[in-house]
Amino acid sequence: MSFSNFDLDARVFAGIPATYSEPTPIQVQAIPAVLSGQDVLGLAQTGTGKTAAFGLPILSRLMKGPRKQIRALIVAPTRELATQICEAIRTFGSQTGLRAVTIFGGVSMRNQIEQLRRGPEIVVACPGRLVDHIQQRTIDLSRVEVLVLDEADHMFDMGFLPNIRTIIRTLPQDRQNLMFSATMPKEVEHLAFDVLQEPQVVNVGRRAPTATVAHYLYPVDASRKTDLLLRVLEDTGTGAVLVFTRTKHRAKKLARTLADCGHSATAIQGNLSQRQREEALNGFRSGKYQLLVATDIAARGIDIDSVTHVINYDIPDTVEAYTHRIGRTGRAERSGDALTFITREDEGTVRAIERVVGGKIERRVVDGFASQKPAQSAPVTQAHPRQRDHRSSEPRQRDRSLRFESRDRNASQQSGSGSPRKRFHRRRRTWGGSDRQASTVRPAH
Ligand code: AMP
Repeated sequence: MSFSNFDLDARVFAGIPATYSEPTPIQVQAIPAVLSGQDVLGLAQTGTGKTAAFGLPILSRLMKGPRKQIRALIVAPTRELATQICEAIRTFGSQTGLRAVTIFGGVSMRNQIEQLRRGPEIVVACPGRLVDHIQQRTIDLSRVEVLVLDEADHMFDMGFLPNIRTIIRTLPQDRQNLMFSATMPKEVEHLAFDVLQEPQVVNVGRRAPTATVAHYLYPVDASRKTDLLLRVLEDTGTGAVLVFTRTKHRAKKLARTLADCGHSATAIQGNLSQRQREEALNGFRSGKYQLLVATDIAARGIDIDSVTHVINYDIPDTVEAYTHRIGRTGRAERSGDALTFITREDEGTVRAIERVVGGKIERRVVDGFASQKPAQSAPVTQAHPRQRDHRSSEPRQRDRSLRFESRDRNASQQSGSGSPRKRFHRRRRTWGGSDRQASTVRPAH
């Protein structure tokens, strides 16, 4: 399969980076659907190539029709993601003369108003600031033909769904809608149900990140995590390393300790100003910092290809958060390592993660660090999708993505229920075209 198989405008085709030798699975499925003008629900997370999956066909569509009016609106939950999408679209559209601008909070409105006056065809926006522009009538969305809602589950996590509904009310009714989400919590499902008309469902699930990432568990006492991290960094030939902690405070403190120990490290957490966030991210991207310590929220959508290792200094609270974290490495079929420090309290979460990656994860006991009984995991048996909920000893919240997976399969197997998804299934006939493939784990070495 090659990009030339798609019916893309030649000037858009010319903007595809040379490194994209062939389309990723989501691109194979989504590009023709978007080109045909259909609504699309993409069940995929970052790292799967979804920006090009919607960006290329949208640019192609915009080659025909008027210029200097906003015809495509892409809404994303974080500034970093909005910036990345806009940069990607500018790259893809470098030969098209189409213009894209970003709209997000934390910077002056005036600049954005000035950019909007110049008549871009594409706007990439975060919900809060976009609503400000709508309320102040500094943006005209009356000509929007395509709406993209990216990372819809994060928009929900971050409390943006009311803003999304406000935005949607200002758009023309007759438009194409594309929605992307790694998971499908109930609220996002409702949104999909309300917004999408007979969507083509494109489902690549977690396949891409997990297929290219090797996972390892490091048993350790909670009090010795920093020492273990220093040892691991010493022993492992790492490139750029993204380290996750549970709280902002821990991120800051850990980055400081790492720097004191001679590592080039910085932290990114919610308390930073926009300028500080950019300094940290650009420094990490350029290699000035080898280590970036982050919290889950702060790391959303970070797209840095050079990340070779994700280290979960603190295990994430949910399986979903795990897949998002490790999605920062092994991007677009490159390989990466995901190292998770585990204490005895983390056993339940470990089991849930193992179920998602589809096998037992290798434990690496580092000399001198497993003074207590290391966390053991029960043998992993592949539960039938319908049974997974009942087998889990985890609280409901922790298992949200597992439930989603089993419901997704059920959705194509069952009929005649009153749940929102099944109602959706009955009304939208194209629903249920799932081609989810089993997660695989790169063999540990
Ligand atoms: P995304 O999921 O859109 O954030 O993309 C993840 C990464 O994959 C980005 O660095 C893209 O530039 C890269 N990428 C997207 N599509 C391809 C492709 N077909 N071949 C190689 N890399 C790609």
